[in-house]
Amino acid sequence: MQTRHHLRIDNADAPRLRELTRKGWLAQRSQPLPGMFGGRVYAPDRAALQDQTAIHDERLRMGHLSLTAELHRLPLTEHRLLIAGSKNYEQFENQDVLANGLLAPMSLLQRRAWVTDLVTTTRQGRQPTVTDLPAEPGSWLRAETRLVDLDGLWFVSLAFEMPRPPRSQGGCVLGIDVGLSPLAVAAGVNTVLSTAPLHLLTGAGLRALERQIAGLRPGMQHEVERRYERLISGAARQALEVFTDQIIARASAVSVEKLTLSGFESDFVERSRERAVADWLQSWLPQRLYAAGIPLRRVAPHHTSLRCHRCGLPGQRLRDRFSCRACGSLNAHENAAHNIRRRGWGGRRWAR
Ligand SMILES: [Zn+2]
Repeated sequence: MQTRHHLRIDNADAPRLRELTRKGWLAQRSQPLPGMFGGRVYAPDRAALQDQTAIHDERLRMGHLSLTAELHRLPLTEHRLLIAGSKNYEQFENQDVLANGLLAPMSLLQRRAWVTDLVTTTRQGRQPTVTDLPAEPGSWLRAETRLVDLDGLWFVSLAFEMPRPPRSQGGCVLGIDVGLSPLAVAAGVNTVLSTAPLHLLTGAGLRALERQIAGLRPGMQHEVERRYERLISGAARQALEVFTDQIIARASAVSVEKLTLSGFESDFVERSRERAVADWLQSWLPQRLYAAGIPLRRVAPHHTSLRCHRCGLPGQRLRDRFSCRACGSLNAHENAAHNIRRRGWGGRRWAR
């Protein structure tokens, strides 16, 4: 199975890319890319495609061309394949330790140590790492890299050969509700699945981070904040990867909301979770479901959280609880997921 992911390139690289299209080093292709609607697709020079390596999670080099791109937005498996296919890939120290720390509860003392570790290793900068990752089945398909100009916004599109997931054996219809906490909940008849909770800095842990950041020079303050943001998004991706495997093992069909980001917050912690969920919903989940032969429908999201999935009456949602005057108090995420399942794949008239 092949997967493809389109990652934003920094605007500062756009003039250079336009110049390379004029020189013919980037050759336009007529074939559109799956998952990319519109845009002009370019294939880089063939020798440069072969001489291609990821420098770190924000930098890709092909031949003499070096690009700043959001490589950290790849799903976990593809990111590992990219690292395995790159020489001297640079990483911050304790990257995995810090990311895993956000997936487990920690004491205040451990939180403070976590913050110190984050700040110290970020100040040291990225170092070339010997990639001793366990050999994953699959590979990065370098020759398939394309660059896309979408109305002046440039993307790099990377392709991977991935192990085909086992085809789903029946299972049940699942509706998926997405949010920030938990990131996603799937519900079907007698089935509820949820992403692992993220344990982000709060209260005293967050104040410890703010204090340490305040002592740094402005450029480094920005670096630490951005790294924290990427660690959150990495932890979210890890939780979504496990969740995707669970869905593929259980589902016969899936429905999800059409994504609207208007309800999301704009602070940087929430933005990084939001991006992970958006990438998952728009690109990564559909590709994995397709490979597993599981049909997917997208439904309009309105009112899925405001009606009771059992009796259809309107009810009230207060944070994680939904209350129906006939059925009592229900988990609000599960209730929404059931409504999304029915809206996608049928049920009573009111739920369609
Ligand atoms: Zn009810």
